[in-house]
Amino acid sequence: ESMIIETQSKSYPVFIGKGVIGELEEWFMKHLPQASHILIIADEEVFGLHGEMLVNALPKNFSWSVHKVPAGEKAKTFQTYENCLSDALEKELDRKAVVIAFGGGAIGDLAGFVASTFMRGIGFIQIPTTILAHDSAVGGKVAINHEKGKNMVGQFYQPEAVFYDLNFLSTLPRKEIRSGMAEVIKHALIADPKLLKELKDNLTSLDKMDAISLENYLKAGIKIKAKIVSQDERETGVRAYLNFGHTYGHAIENVSGYGTVTHGEAVMVGIIFALYLSKETSSLSIDLEQFTGWVRSLGYKMSIIDKLPFEDLYNAMKRDKKSSKSKPRFVVLEEIGQPKLIEVDIDHLRKADQFIRNR
Ligand code: NAD
Ligand code: ZN
Repeated sequence: ESMIIETQSKSYPVFIGKGVIGELEEWFMKHLPQASHILIIADEEVFGLHGEMLVNALPKNFSWSVHKVPAGEKAKTFQTYENCLSDALEKELDRKAVVIAFGGGAIGDLAGFVASTFMRGIGFIQIPTTILAHDSAVGGKVAINHEKGKNMVGQFYQPEAVFYDLNFLSTLPRKEIRSGMAEVIKHALIADPKLLKELKDNLTSLDKMDAISLENYLKAGIKIKAKIVSQDERETGVRAYLNFGHTYGHAIENVSGYGTVTHGEAVMVGIIFALYLSKETSSLSIDLEQFTGWVRSLGYKMSIIDKLPFEDLYNAMKRDKKSSKSKPRFVVLEEIGQPKLIEVDIDHLRKADQFIRNR
């Protein structure tokens, strides 16, 4: 089963479901028969767990190699990036080589950036292995980090295809499940009241999620992301709505130090913050106490900001890419499914921050 992502620069399929890695070979033979080499850039942990499954699914009669990189955010350094390029050059890869990204969002971002810059751009395929990557593997944002800021060096560069085999998710640790589901809930809030209701009614524990529901949530999330990206590939307008919950969320990640909390755990607190602002500044009618109670019951913690002073978070928010010179900009909701971008003054921000601290 596949969905098609249509952007201005490229259309490509997302194969999603258990076992879809089995469709890689046929697709590859049909669409990239002239490929000279397959360079797999893999999270070393993920490769240890699932590498054999990937290797068995590779198209036959193509030369291939694996370049393993450190798990998670360490993959997105200049050093790791350079190592990937050195490996590709030492192997004398040419412009017909194809990169496969195998891992979570961090590896997709790195491998996509490698592919986008090697010889001015070669093809790449996303094989995501986290729930969060339902978000990151679609839409074509690729990047590495600079000391001065996360994702500061990157491109818009769409993959040739995405093979999202949900069998890989079976080994995900609980906090990575939580991290990824935050983005699913975000997608529902900005675009799909029905999905939000379904989630609220049925999602009572992240441990007891059944495979069919998860698949449906991920498909719905991808559909929402795909629609927005098809309208605004390079984030000059509506794509900014995908940053719902991210201004405060990124500030939490930034001030606490990247890797201290997962992206999604920080974003969920950012979502509550943005929902509070939405109620303050527009007509959103959501029972925020109830919503907060629900996400807390799923294991998200408001206490991750306990040691982070508001002033530090505020300064981080002002540096956010969306912000104007001095006022942070926020995505807020007029209603579920109706986002808009507004500037918010410090008093409202302090109140929203206080709301979180009291929960
Ligand atoms: P990740 O790639 O860091 O993976 C998280 C952890 O899970 C790592 O330790 C990894 O080794 C482990 N892991 C991955 N797959 C596993 C599996 N199947 N079983 C067991 N362990 C597994 O992180 P992520 O949460 O997938 O993504 C976060 C990254 O994605 C960040 O760098 C963020 O900036 C980026 N991102 C990009 C976009 C985009 O549009 N490009 C969107 C959102 C996030
Ligand atoms: Zn995110």
